Formats: sequence, C-alpha cells, structure tokens
Amino acid sequence: MDVLTITDLTKQYRHFTALAVLTMHVPQGAIYGLVGQNGAGKTTLIRQVCGLQTPSGGTVTLFGIDHREPGIVQARQRIGAVVETPSVYLDMTAAANLRQQYQILGLPADETIPALLQTVGLADTGKKKVKHFSLGMRQRLGIAIALVGGPDFLILDEPANGLDPQGIIEIRELILKLNREQQITFLISSHILDELARLATHYGFIDHGRMVREVSTAELQKAFKKRTVVTVNDTRILARVLTEKQMAFEITDAHHAAVFDVPEVTAFVMALAAAGCTVQRLTEVDESLESYYINLVGGGQHA
Ligand code: ATP
Repeated sequence: MDVLTITDLTKQYRHFTALAVLTMHVPQGAIYGLVGQNGAGKTTLIRQVCGLQTPSGGTVTLFGIDHREPGIVQARQRIGAVVETPSVYLDMTAAANLRQQYQILGLPADETIPALLQTVGLADTGKKKVKHFSLGMRQRLGIAIALVGGPDFLILDEPANGLDPQGIIEIRELILKLNREQQITFLISSHILDELARLATHYGFIDHGRMVREVSTAELQKAFKKRTVVTVNDTRILARVLTEKQMAFEITDAHHAAVFDVPEVTAFVMALAAAGCTVQRLTEVDESLESYYINLVGGGQHA
C-alpha cells in the first residue's frame, strides 16, 4: 500500500508553474528520496502534501484519503514534518520545546518526553537552551517535535543541510532507526546524493516541477552500468578482441578503456594476453547515483 500517492499534481504561482502534472508514489515502509536541483519544486511539493498550500490541480492521497475529502485532516495528523528549518523555541530547553508541541496538538505532555529525547540523542541536554545547541542538535530536536503524536510518516526537507559530517551521520542513524524500529515511512528531499544513497529505498527525480523518474533502489542497482576500467599496453588490440567477442566498450585513451559487463575476469585477461595485449590493471567501477541523475536530467547545473 502507498502511504502517499500523488496524481497529476500541478501548482501554479501566478504565471509560474512550480509543479506540472506530477505523479508520485511512496510505499509504506519506504525511505523515499526526493531528488532535484534548487528550484525543481521539492519544497513546493512537500507543502502540498502537508496541506500548507492548496494544489492548483491533481490530487494528493494520504493513507488512501484524497486531499479534497474531509478525512484528510485525520490523515494529516499521521504525518510529522520538518520543512525548511526546524521551528524550535531558542530560549527554551529541548524538553520544554516538546512540552509546547504536546500542548499545540492538545495532547497530554506525558512521560514520553524523556524517551523521545533519548531516541533523538538529546537525553543529556538538561537545562541547556536550544540557542546553545549545534545545528545537528536543533535538527534532531526538530525531528523529535515532528515525532510528537506518533506519526506513521515523516517528511524531512533537506535534513542534512548545513550539518557537519558528524551531524550528518547522527541524522542518518536516527532516520534508519526510526524506519526499522518504528516502521516510520520517510519522504526526504535532498541534494546531497551520496548521503541519500546510504538511506533511500526509493527515489523520485524531479526537474522543473516534473517527475522525471521514480525508481526503487533495487531497480536502480540493475540500471547502473557496471564498468571495468582496463589499463593495457595497446588499446587497438583490446578493441579488436572486444569487437570479436561482441562486448560493449569505450576507449578513453591509448592505454585505457571502459568495458561493460565483463563476465569472467580470468578468461577475459587470458584472451587479451593470447592476442598480445598486456593487461596492467583492472578496476571495477559502479555508476554513482550522481552520474545516474546527471544522465537522467541532462548536463548543466545540478543539485
Ligand atoms: P530549493 O532546494 O532551492 O528550496 P526546491 O526544489 O525546494 O528548491 P521550491 O522551493 O519548491 O524549489 O521552488 C520551486 C519554484 O517555485 C522556484 O522557482 C521558486 O522560485 C518558485 N516558488 C516557490 N514558492 C513560490 C511562491 N510563493 N510564489 C512564486 N513562486 C514561488
């Protein structure tokens, strides 16, 4: 079942089309990475999902409820979100911020606060005010606030933005823990593709307000072309042998070539040696998420 299904979503700001007939599916239990360059429409899309803006056209279906149905209010209560910067009170402690959120939601500020602080790694912040927190601690507090009320679906807009490497690792581990231990589904927008690649089970690549492709990590792995970079004494012989064997390759210079889908390394090297071509090095290279993305949306300036 999809936690979120978006169908033909359009968002028009006066004459500017920020989202154009966009379709998207977030399956239950997924960590869905929303990828797009600056201005692609990620935040606009998240605003429509959270009900912060009204779509110009199309539908947003949350837990099976269409955004035009009255039940959407209850469905949205099952979402937690940190959009842009986390909204935290700087002059309060972490615990006081959480108490405030319980009050806003009309929930009793029960004994769950220490457990929530423990979950996000802020249990020992005591009387420290949020203004003295690092950016990573504020981000984790933002997630704790979003967790008040026990959501099934968390939406994080650029959660790693501005964080140092340690902060990025802590956010990653927190997301993975919440996904695995509490079965929370995630929608994460990010332009830090290496980081997203460590987390995501599904991706949606958007460009100029359009969904260019939706793919699961498993499908993506299959789509990645496995290359073996070969260093040889003579690429002319290499080209002849590979052509005879009907293998796909690209000669990069007089001594290097990229060969796709080498079936068996020993047989491959022996065939080359028999033809008089000495292999000096073989390196297997996986296509990165970044190169896949650039191939998908074309060259130029990218996230
Ligand atoms: P970034 O990572 O830079 O935030 P994004 O993918 O989240 O990028 P959006 O913030 O969704 O992009 O913006 C998409 C486009 O819509 C941008 O060109 C932006 O200028 C435009 N836009 C966003 N909000 C409004 C608004 N309220 N009125 C007019 N145009 C807007």
